[in-house]
Amino acid sequence: MKLSDKEIMAINNLKGRLPLRITPYFASLIYKSKYSDPLRRNVIPVVEELLQHTTEQSDPLHEKSFSPVKGIVHRYPDRVLFTVTQVCSNYCRYCTRSHSVGRLDKLGRQDFEKAFNYIAAHKEVRDVLISGGDPLTLTDETLDYILSNIRSIPHVEMIRIGTRIPVVLPQRITDNLISILRKYHPLFISLHFSHPAEITDECAKACIKLADGGFPLGSQTVLLKGINDNVPVMKELMHKLLKIRVRPYYLYQCDLIPGSGHFRTTVRKGLEIIKGLRGFTSGYAVPTFVVDAPGGGGKIPLLPDYVVEHNDEKIVMRNYKGVLCEYPEK
Ligand code: SF4
Repeated sequence: MKLSDKEIMAINNLKGRLPLRITPYFASLIYKSKYSDPLRRNVIPVVEELLQHTTEQSDPLHEKSFSPVKGIVHRYPDRVLFTVTQVCSNYCRYCTRSHSVGRLDKLGRQDFEKAFNYIAAHKEVRDVLISGGDPLTLTDETLDYILSNIRSIPHVEMIRIGTRIPVVLPQRITDNLISILRKYHPLFISLHFSHPAEITDECAKACIKLADGGFPLGSQTVLLKGINDNVPVMKELMHKLLKIRVRPYYLYQCDLIPGSGHFRTTVRKGLEIIKGLRGFTSGYAVPTFVVDAPGGGGKIPLLPDYVVEHNDEKIVMRNYKGVLCEYPEK
């Protein structure tokens, strides 16, 4: 690929930062792209990434302080995050966990056992989100081992896997993988899409195969300046997702990780996008816009200002066309 000076300088200065990694499949999508191409900007660093703003921190969601045992983050009362690997197939330059992903800090069998024991000892945990890194970079055997151990804990009602594999390595969604995952229903799969151009024929095939396996599919998108920060691109992404049976789930305000300033938009921009979607397209195509509160406050959903006045008598609301409507409270 022909790289720009800004890209070469950034790549040469990545030491200690999120590494560069791109699958051959994803590279084929950006091989002859312009420097400003949205898919290229997802994976190829530019010099702005080397600049750290004072508001940015390496672990903005304070996941380390919510981690009782290696691999587990227990922030919310009834569910845990289980980061089973730090490896991904592609590294997204805006990754929230850029402080930990890409490092070769593997969980050993003992770490896995400790994590299973923690979940088993905490009866309030009814939902386990297996994430990373990307769990689908693990072998089928390791995934089977992890899932069978979690599924054997009686109080775990649902399991989720967070992955970007169908977008960056769709060939990984094999028949064998599906037959392993199918043993552990109810199993939800949270995907991660940034731009409509990611939905190629290969990606669509992988998602439809997962949907046919019976896994409810949701998508999370990070709001990124110059990539997807406008209504037409976001609407096209949401429509294309629904066509491949993926339900838009969250739209995230970009987290305050070091070197993310060039990706971040204002929160106002996110609200503007939601306002441009709600009412103008199917409700299924409208994700929930959230800010993951810096310092570990959790996800906070935000809505455009639809409430004009609210008292004991009535609520006055503004609809998507700006028309005022009233509903009585008595
Ligand atoms: S796939 Fe997810 S965990 Fe991996 S680099 Fe991208 S955002 Fe981070």
